[in-house]
Amino acid sequence: MTTPAVDVTVGFIGLGSMGSGMTRNLRKAGFSLVVNDIRRESADELVAGGARWADTPAEVAASSDLVITMLPTPKHVHEVMNGQAGVLAGMAPTGTWIDMSTSVPEVADEIRKKNPGLHVLDAPVSGMSVGAANGTLQIFIGGDTDDVNRLRPVFDAMGDRERILHVGGHGAGYTVKLMLNQLWFSHLVATAEVLAIGVKAGVDLGVLRNALVNSPAQSNFVERDVLSVLDHGDYDEGFAIALACKDLGLSTDLAASVGVPAELSALVEQIFRRARASYGDRAGEMTPVKLYEDLIGVDLRL
Ligand code: NAD
Repeated sequence: MTTPAVDVTVGFIGLGSMGSGMTRNLRKAGFSLVVNDIRRESADELVAGGARWADTPAEVAASSDLVITMLPTPKHVHEVMNGQAGVLAGMAPTGTWIDMSTSVPEVADEIRKKNPGLHVLDAPVSGMSVGAANGTLQIFIGGDTDDVNRLRPVFDAMGDRERILHVGGHGAGYTVKLMLNQLWFSHLVATAEVLAIGVKAGVDLGVLRNALVNSPAQSNFVERDVLSVLDHGDYDEGFAIALACKDLGLSTDLAASVGVPAELSALVEQIFRRARASYGDRAGEMTPVKLYEDLIGVDLRL
């Protein structure tokens, strides 16, 4: 990967499952880093590799050319931006903020209204923690074209160049990401239900899945994604069910705010909430499959 032509310092807040991989790739691409997280230990490896630790989000903003947030929920984003020692307290009036969290436009809208000189982009991602670690994330960017073009090298460092998409004005990135997750979670529940019924009715799991893969009911989920459970019993703890429930809640709220009934999305959200209640906040995003396994008393394994 090429080194940036000028020395650009990226401030990065939120070094969890996603942020840890994304910051490593920014370093690899030659960006200087200033980082912060409420868990100081999450930065140990980065600091050993040359990144600078900042005690507060304000300090991150004051010592960097742009700030990226990668935080769990809109509430966290609001706090980190607007808190007493928040990003806005340290950022220049014409500074740049990219929110890569899966969130909603309200927090950024309010900030842009109060700080009209700021350059703000929403740029949530898909690709799981593996994609963050490998620098192959898909990125959905909402905001002004000039900012998107200027910041392209930053996105290139974290994502798959072919799948870094400018999807519209402010907020469009958040919307595309929420709709993507909503559809994927719906695939997950529908697939788990169908496999559980078929197996309980006596069909071999591999035979049933093969038939589906080669049928009009084929999906990327049946062909590829479900295999982490079927092959390895891996429910993807890299993405906590608590965060999946957060996304589903944001998605059904969005549907309500634009006046579109979302019966199916609401049902999928309830099934995810049942999995969260059954297996705990930190259980993997694919544990709704386990609900069906427990129901039929069979682990769905090939
Ligand atoms: P995570 O919980 O693993 O990491 C979040 C990090 O933010 C943690 O390190 C936490 O300590 C830190 N944090 C929380 N509050 C803070 C504060 N006030 N100040 C500083 N740091 C704070 O979450 P994640 O899985 O990395 O997800 C981050 C975002 O990316 C979420 O919006 C999630 O929905 C989205 N996302 C996650 C995945 C995935 O597979 N994990 C994939 C795509 C999108």
